[in-house]
Amino acid sequence: MSTRSPRAAQATTAAVNEPAAANFLRAIVEDDLRNGRTAGRKWSGRPGPAAAQADAPADPWPLRTRFPPEPNGYLHLGHSKSICLNFGLARDYGGACHLRFDDTNPTKEEQAYVDSIIDAVHWLGFEWGEHLYFASDYFQTLYDFAEAFITHGLAYVDSQSAEQMRANRGTLTEPGRASPYRDRTADENLALFRRMAAGEYPDGAHVLRLKIDMAAANIVLRDPAIYRIRHAQHHRTGSRWCIYPLYDYAHCVSDALENITHSICTLEFENNRALYDWIVQKLARLNLLVRPLPHQYEFARLNLTYVVLSKRRLIQLVDEGHVDGWDDPRMPTLAGARRRGYTPEGFRLFAERIGVSKADSWIDYAVLEECMRGHMNETAPRRIAVLDPVKLVIDNYPEGAEEACEAPNHPQRPEWGKRALPFSRELWIEREDFAESPPKGYFRLYPGNRVRLRYGFVVECTGCDKDAAGAVLAVHCKYFSDSKSGTPGADAYKVKGNIHWIGARHAYQAPVRLYDRLFKVPHPGSERDFIADLNPGAKRVVIAQLEPALRAAEPEARFQFERHGYFVADRIDSRPGAPVFNRAVSLRDSWNR
Ligand code: ATP
Ligand code: MG
Repeated sequence: MSTRSPRAAQATTAAVNEPAAANFLRAIVEDDLRNGRTAGRKWSGRPGPAAAQADAPADPWPLRTRFPPEPNGYLHLGHSKSICLNFGLARDYGGACHLRFDDTNPTKEEQAYVDSIIDAVHWLGFEWGEHLYFASDYFQTLYDFAEAFITHGLAYVDSQSAEQMRANRGTLTEPGRASPYRDRTADENLALFRRMAAGEYPDGAHVLRLKIDMAAANIVLRDPAIYRIRHAQHHRTGSRWCIYPLYDYAHCVSDALENITHSICTLEFENNRALYDWIVQKLARLNLLVRPLPHQYEFARLNLTYVVLSKRRLIQLVDEGHVDGWDDPRMPTLAGARRRGYTPEGFRLFAERIGVSKADSWIDYAVLEECMRGHMNETAPRRIAVLDPVKLVIDNYPEGAEEACEAPNHPQRPEWGKRALPFSRELWIEREDFAESPPKGYFRLYPGNRVRLRYGFVVECTGCDKDAAGAVLAVHCKYFSDSKSGTPGADAYKVKGNIHWIGARHAYQAPVRLYDRLFKVPHPGSERDFIADLNPGAKRVVIAQLEPALRAAEPEARFQFERHGYFVADRIDSRPGAPVFNRAVSLRDSWNR
C-alpha cells in the first residue's frame, strides 16, 4: 500500500460520487491522531514481540487497521462492510490496512479459501502491499507468550473434561467454580504444557487456561482457555503443531505484534474486549509487547434482507444443491456477486451509504441494488436485447432493403458515440409489446395503434399471424418512411409507445440468465426452515435475440439492456463470439411496490 494524502483519498471516494460520511469510528481515529495517541510506536519492518521492536525506528504508519478473515469459507456481502471500513479508514487517514488470515483452526481451513479471499478483497479495490499476514506465522511467539503466562502464575493446565468445564463455568447470575487443577504449580504447568505441545496427549485431554477470576461478572473472564490440543494438519504449518491457540488469545496478540492501532470487530465481541485488554496489558507488563497497545472497537454487523449471511447456511445451500456453487450469481458471496455483475464501486458506495454505527439494524436489499444501479447507470453502455422475441414484419418495407438507424451508446455521454442498428423488413420485438386486445392504458402495438420503434421509424400495427392454438407467430405493421428519428418532419407523428427492436437478419442468439433475489421473503427462516423461503424464480434462462454489437462482449463487460436492466457477460461461461449474459439488477425495484 502506498502513502496517500487525505486529498488523494478523497479523490478515490469521489469516484463513487459520495463523500466519506462521518461515523463514530472516524471520530475516534481523528481524535486519536490529533492527540498523538498512536505516536511513538516502533516498527522493525515486520510483526514481532517487544524484543524485536526495541531498537526499531518509528512506525511510518500513524494508523494500522486489519481485516482478519478466517479462511474457512467464502467472503459474503457482510464482509464487504468490514473490508470497506478497515481499508477505507487506512486509505482516508494515511494508514496501512493489513490482510490477516486468522488461521488458528486447522480442521476447517484451506488454501482454496485463502486464495478466494485474496481475490475478493482485491476485486473490491483494496491493496495491502507487503501487509499480508497469517496468525499461523505467530504460533511460536504465541507459544512463548503462553509459557511466560505460565511462569508468572497467570496460566494453568486444566485437565477437566469439556463437560466439567462447562458445568463449572457458572451462569450470568452464579459465579463459576474453580477447577481442581487451578492450583498446579508453575513448574507442573510448564512441564504439562510442554508435553501437550510435544504431542503426548490426545485431543481434549488438557487445555491451557488463563488464571483470571472464576467469579468475574463477565463470563469471558472466567479463566478462558487459550490453547487446546488438536492433532491435525494445518494448511500452512503442516504437522509442526498439535496445540493451537484459541481466537481470543491469538487475535489480540496478532494485533499487537502487527502494531495495529484500531482493531475493529462486530458487536458480538463486546464482552471479549475486557479479555483483549487483559491479555495485551499483562504482556506489556511482562515486557513482551510494547505500548501503545492496540484497542478493540465494535460496530454493528451488516444485516441484509432477502439473503442469509451465516456460513453454516451458505454451506447448506451449496451442499444440498439449491444453487450451482459458491460463485452462483444468486449466492450472497462476493464471488457470486461478482459473477452476477455487481461492481466494486457499487459495494464501496453501499458501504458509505449504510454507514457505521453501534446499533444493530436491518438494511433493505433494495439499497444494495440501488447502489449497483447507480454505478452502472453511469458506466454501462446501452445495448438492445429482446428477451422474449416475436417477429415484427413491416409489410410495406422493401424486401432485401436495409438501412442503419443510429443509437447513442449512452444518453448522457455523447462522447461515447453512436452505433448502427440495421433496420430491415423483419425485426424482433418483445412478445409483451404486442396485444391483440389491449388492456386499458396499453400504448404499445395493437391493431390500429402506432408506436415508435426506438431510434427508428413509426409503425402502425395491422394484425398478426397465429398458429392453430392461438399463439402469435408474427405481428404485422406498416411503417411511415418519413418518420425516422432525427429526420425532418418525423415529429409530426404523435405516438405514446416507444419500443425496442432488433433487425432479424443481424440479430444474434444467446442465453440470458434472469437472476432475481435468492429468497422471496425479507427474513428467510424466520417463520419456517429457511430453505422453504427460497425464491424458485431466482434464476430463469431465456434464449434472447441480441444486437450485433453484443456478440463480441468480453467476459465481465457490463451493459444496460434498454428497458430491461443491467447485464454482465458471465466471467466463466461467456467468451467473445459466444456470449452468455447474467442480469445483475433490473432497471427498477419491483419488490417494494
Ligand atoms: P465465523 O467467525 O463464524 O467463521 P465470520 O462471518 O465472523 O464467521 P470471519 O472470517 O471471522 O467470518 O470474518 C472476518 C471479519 O468480517 C470479522 O472481523 C467479522 O467481524 C467481519 N464480518 C463478518 N460478518 C460480518 C457482517 N455481517 N457485517 C460486517 N462485518 C462482518
Ligand atoms: Mg469470525
